[in-house]
Amino acid sequence: MRLILLGPPGVGKGTQASAIVKKYNIPHISTGDIFRANIKEGTELGMKAKEYMDKGLLVPDELVVSIVKDRLSKDDCKDGFLLDGFPRTIEQAEALDEELKNMGIKLDKVVNIYADKEILIERAIGRRICKKCGTAYHIKFNPPKVENVCDIDGGELFQRDDDNRETVSTRIEVYEKQTEPLIEYYKEKGIILDVDGTKPIEEVFETIVKGLE
Ligand SMILES: [Zn+2]
Repeated sequence: MRLILLGPPGVGKGTQASAIVKKYNIPHISTGDIFRANIKEGTELGMKAKEYMDKGLLVPDELVVSIVKDRLSKDDCKDGFLLDGFPRTIEQAEALDEELKNMGIKLDKVVNIYADKEILIERAIGRRICKKCGTAYHIKFNPPKVENVCDIDGGELFQRDDDNRETVSTRIEVYEKQTEPLIEYYKEKGIILDVDGTKPIEEVFETIVKGLE
């Protein structure tokens, strides 16, 4: 199974990614992770990427594509992979198509988990986290038994600084602007699988699995 996973911040993409890679026994390829690994190992690609990142610049498409290409050629990707965080632009998507073509393979599906912006904002601003154990609650959808107190260890709950309306809203808008053309691109290829991310976690996963059959 060769997949790309798309979804706005806060839609539960990470949870679904874990479930998908477990079910299909494929590696979860997140570009952030590959970058960090390459930099840590001091590879040539990693060092080049670091130069840009240290200057606060975006890593050029060409370099991102090289790093992904290098990762996809590893043995564990032979039977498939789940790409997460890549491609981000049409240029990257075209470069990926070209690479896959050279490798004699193609994408099976692009899983697009979507949700209404207002719902994502409500989810984020109601989130409270335990200071002691990190368990997440929601004041409306998953409240603790006692207000502001963790059910598990009695720890105090707090709200993360970036879980505010403005920050969350900006992050979603950036995502939408960046991803919309990609969704169109894959729609034209007929491989988009739209999944409603506002449904319960298990239901979202079931829909994905059905769509991949
Ligand atoms: Zn706790």
